[in-house]
Amino acid sequence: MLWAQSEFVNRPFSGRENVYEESESLGGAEARPPSCDLMYNSVTGEIVSQLAGIVGEKYVTNSKAMLASYLSKGIMGIEAELPEAVVRPGNLDEVRAVLQLANKNKIPVTPLSGGLSGGFSLPAVRPGGILLDLTRMNRILDIDLDARYMVVEPGLTTGKVWAHFRRNHPDWAPPIPDGAPPAATVVGDALERGFTLATSLYGPQADLVLGMEVVLPSGKILRTGSWALKKAKPFYKWGPGPDIGGLFLGAQGTMGVVTKMAVKILPHSEHKDIVAFGFDSPEDMVNASLEVLKKEVSVMVQGGNWWLVPTRLGPEEKIDLNMTKKSGVPDWFMNFELWGRDEADLNYRRNLVREVMREQRDSGVKAEEWQLHPKQKASRLLKPNKIAIPYALFRGSYLFVTWYTPWKDAADFCRLAEDKMKAYDIPPVLWVAAIDNGRQSICMPILCYDPTDEASIDRIRMFNQDTSHMFYDRGWLNYRPDPTVHAPAVAENAPEYFDLLRSIKKLLDPNGIMHPGRLGLP
Ligand SMILES: Cc1cc2nc3c(=O)[nH]c(=O)nc-3n(C[C@H](O)[C@H](O)[C@H](O)COP(=O)(O)OP(=O)(O)OC[C@H]3O[C@@H](n4cnc5c(N)ncnc54)[C@H](O)[C@@H]3O)c2cc1C
Repeated sequence: MLWAQSEFVNRPFSGRENVYEESESLGGAEARPPSCDLMYNSVTGEIVSQLAGIVGEKYVTNSKAMLASYLSKGIMGIEAELPEAVVRPGNLDEVRAVLQLANKNKIPVTPLSGGLSGGFSLPAVRPGGILLDLTRMNRILDIDLDARYMVVEPGLTTGKVWAHFRRNHPDWAPPIPDGAPPAATVVGDALERGFTLATSLYGPQADLVLGMEVVLPSGKILRTGSWALKKAKPFYKWGPGPDIGGLFLGAQGTMGVVTKMAVKILPHSEHKDIVAFGFDSPEDMVNASLEVLKKEVSVMVQGGNWWLVPTRLGPEEKIDLNMTKKSGVPDWFMNFELWGRDEADLNYRRNLVREVMREQRDSGVKAEEWQLHPKQKASRLLKPNKIAIPYALFRGSYLFVTWYTPWKDAADFCRLAEDKMKAYDIPPVLWVAAIDNGRQSICMPILCYDPTDEASIDRIRMFNQDTSHMFYDRGWLNYRPDPTVHAPAVAENAPEYFDLLRSIKKLLDPNGIMHPGRLGLP
């Protein structure tokens, strides 16, 4: 089961077995031992009534079917907990009132913008508490074409904002995740520090955030960056003093609820192309591509191994893996997505990439241009694209387990991950992309598994445990830390940092109601 409520979820937090009594009733009023040191209360019938008083009856539910349907959205987490109630506020005042109620009654709150964060960041952890669904707050509040940012609400989907810009501001692109479905959100992706359609050029989406409006559990409302000043617009991300905004990026909803975000928009053009090159080894792929990345001409540089191709085509038993070889898919490859201001600029960029690769060939590296079919190009250039969804076809489900490394370490990552995946009978599907012109890489084993087979799920868990230690030992960083695997390792590997984070969390959220257990925080 994708969202099985297993004992496994509880262990790493409590260090105690079975401390949590499974309660079928949503109305029980008892204080319960949670997954950490703090005590939480259940969402009682009385609390549900009070929530309905805040947001309206229509926007609160504790129907088991509805609660379960929310978890099934978080398709890529294998551990998750049913919330006890879903609440859908429509504005800032309602968010504030819900948080104050939850804080007063010590009830956990998990914020959700689109609910599609891959990996491990969304499904609630024990205890379930309130799932705060922000999808009703989905407006574009401002677009400033001079200062080049937009202000949006958390529920604004990438599909909606992309369509709006194509219709009304074709020369500009909102930063949307490169491969996420249109139901993902700009705010959720920025909070996750995700990779946008232009991450290879501009860095992770969090780098584009200029300011946020955040509601704290106390009900206090904070604005970050220049926006902190009463009369200022969110034109500058650094505020009047040290940057407070960073506390909410990568926080997985543990610090407060973001109700507005100002985020940069990017120059956009219809003059686009993709050129791709094949390589014999991950080392050649990484080293040759770095020479292109240093030219800083490509919005998205991403590739990986040949496994990326067949595992999207259908069920394992029906796929001929040799077909990829026969149809000319290189062992390792890298795509360079180019946006030119006009055809001449696009040509310049294409020629530059080809020239660098020619130099690589002259130095003995096999860096052959891979001629993509127009349909392949079109599917990559389509935004938001749905390119990642079909990996579920191969074994029934998949997980993205994502790590950041210095770009030069990406080949080493691929070798180690490939060996471990094979050892755990997981097809070694590996995706690699450049961040900020190859200053960093994002390396992602795509773990295809059978969600109906406990042994298959266990192999995923074991792979994660095993590689987590191995990768942290090499100084690499996990992107969406799983609370049961990666987060505890962060506490071990960065103790002073983690201690300070705990103190800050205590200051912002003294009752620990915000998404408890995430990031290994109470
Ligand atoms: C098939 C597929 C492909 C994907 N491809 C990409 C990709 O190419 N690039 C990429 O970056 N991501 C990708 N993702 C991951 C994910 O879709 C994006 O990161 C997404 O945009 C996250 O946004 P969301 O609204 O779904 O976030 P959510 O899942 O709602 O939330 C993300 C995290 O932030 C917290 N949170 C949410 N809203 C708030 C708020 N308002 N205040 C405080 N905390 C909050 C949540 O508790 C959670 O921990 C992909 C996912 C899928 C399913």
